[in-house]
Amino acid sequence: MGTLVLVATPIGNLGDMSPRAIEALQNSALICCEDTRRTGGLLSHFGISGVRMAIANEHTETARIDEVLNLLSAGQTVALVTDAGTPGISDPGERLVRAAIDHHHVVSAVPGPSADVMALVISGLPCHRYVFDGFLPRRGPERQQRLREATGERRTVVLYEAPHRLARTIDDLHAICGDDRRVVLARELTKMHEEVWRGTLAEAVTHVATREPQGEYVIVLDGAEPPAQADDNDIRAALTEQLATSASTKSAVATVAQRLGVPKNRVYDIALSMSAQPRGTSAS
Ligand code: SAM
Repeated sequence: MGTLVLVATPIGNLGDMSPRAIEALQNSALICCEDTRRTGGLLSHFGISGVRMAIANEHTETARIDEVLNLLSAGQTVALVTDAGTPGISDPGERLVRAAIDHHHVVSAVPGPSADVMALVISGLPCHRYVFDGFLPRRGPERQQRLREATGERRTVVLYEAPHRLARTIDDLHAICGDDRRVVLARELTKMHEEVWRGTLAEAVTHVATREPQGEYVIVLDGAEPPAQADDNDIRAALTEQLATSASTKSAVATVAQRLGVPKNRVYDIALSMSAQPRGTSAS
């Protein structure tokens, strides 16, 4: 059985190339990469020679699958790198991984740099639970939908963005979230001009408007505040509405509890108090 190994490469600073990454590339029968010139430069910098490269980019990854599977079936190791960072993270990789798994080959990785994780851990925003949402679609209803999802998310959200679209994305986030949501712009990570800007969305709008964004950026957005806790009147109103359509009190209670994010027994007690009252009256 062969092994497909995903090898993470530096996102800017060549000092982040690990000894295991160099060894894995040197010991592969084939290195799949997005750009042979770019990866060729990396290989020669680290003295890796005699390993064939083949392009597996966004457009050619699927066409490369048969060749990779043939090598894996012959017991060889195939490495997969991208231009920078961890393959598969807003980069090619997923289709080759899926094909290798479907054909029962071993899939492994040499972990290393990834801009999303680095930006998250240095952001100062909660990082015990987070969502990586990659690049937002550029336009149309899909963009609006993803913006709604990202801004409604309670966990910290990590986004990638191109510098020339940064101002528009910050404007869109600001329009939905308002002034005060915290945001972090992590720029040129691991490079000479690494910079981490932290502030609110209102401040971010001014920040990106007053200087031309340049280089590579990660946006880290604080999660949304939990909705205000429902009080007894909210529960009563939701129950009245639900009881008009639900088959049973039990299902109305379950639906309301889930919708308002309150414990079922609290909703049930209120439902009981409502059914104990004479018709046409309601508790204050
Ligand atoms: N696979 C890569 C990874 O693991 O981070 C990401 C590749 S994706 C095509 C490129 C995007 O990642 C950039 O547009 C930027 O948003 C982010 N990125 C990559 N390198 C970065 C860096 N050094 N500083 C900040 N963001 C970076």
